[in-house]
Amino acid sequence: MIEELKKMINESNNIVFFGGAGVSTASGIKDFRSKDGLYNMKYKYNVEEMLSHTFFMNHPDEFYEFYKDKMNTLDKQPNECHKYLVELEKQGKLKGIITQNIDGLHTKAGSINVYELHGTIYKNKCMKCSKEYKAEDVFKSNGVPKCSCGGIIKPEVVLYEEPLDEETIYKSIDLITKADMLIVAGTSLRVYPASSYINYFRGKYLVVINNEKTIADSFANLVINEDINEVFKKLR
Ligand SMILES: [Zn+2]
Repeated sequence: MIEELKKMINESNNIVFFGGAGVSTASGIKDFRSKDGLYNMKYKYNVEEMLSHTFFMNHPDEFYEFYKDKMNTLDKQPNECHKYLVELEKQGKLKGIITQNIDGLHTKAGSINVYELHGTIYKNKCMKCSKEYKAEDVFKSNGVPKCSCGGIIKPEVVLYEEPLDEETIYKSIDLITKADMLIVAGTSLRVYPASSYINYFRGKYLVVINNEKTIADSFANLVINEDINEVFKKLR
C-alpha cells in the first residue's frame, strides 16, 4: 500500500493535505474529542462547555485553568508526518496543509502554506486593544492573562459557538478544489463543517490515512489503516 501511495504522490503535482487530531496524537498530544482523551478529566464542567465562547466570557479564570493545564503543547515536537510534508512542499508538490489542530506543529516543523481551521495557540490577542501576545506569555501567566492595558488576552483558537475564520475557509476550499491529490489523515471526518470541505475535491487521487473508519473510505482511491508515524516514515 505504501508503494501505491508513493506512486500516486509521484504522479501528482498539486497535492493538498487535510489533517485532524490523529496527526497530533502521533506527537503525543491528547485528542480532546476521543473517548480516552480530555473528556474524562477532573473538571466539574465538560470539555465542550469549558471550551465554549460563553464559558470563556463568564468564567475566564476557570477557562484558563483548564486551557493552561491541557492545551499547553509548547514542548511537543513535529513527527514523521509533519516532517515529510515539509519536504513535499519544498519539492513544489504539496500546495497546502489544512489542519483542524491548534498546536502549530506544521509551522514549527517548517511548513509554509498552512491553514489552521480551528486557529492556533501561538496567536493571542488583547480583547480591548488587539495587542498580540506569544503563547509563552499566556501559558506562563498567573491566572487570567492580562494585557498591559488591562484587557483580557484571548487565544486565537476557535471556541465552541464561534465561527471559523472566513478567509481560512475560503483558502482551504480553494486549495481542495484545485488539487489533483488529497491526503486526508488522522481524522474520521466527523467534525462539521471542516469535514464537508473534502466534497469540493475533483482531483484524481483521494487517500485516507487513519486508524479507524472514516466517511470518505467508500469513495477514496486508497485507504490506509495504519499508524501515521509509520506510514510517513516509510515515505521519507
Ligand atoms: Zn490591551
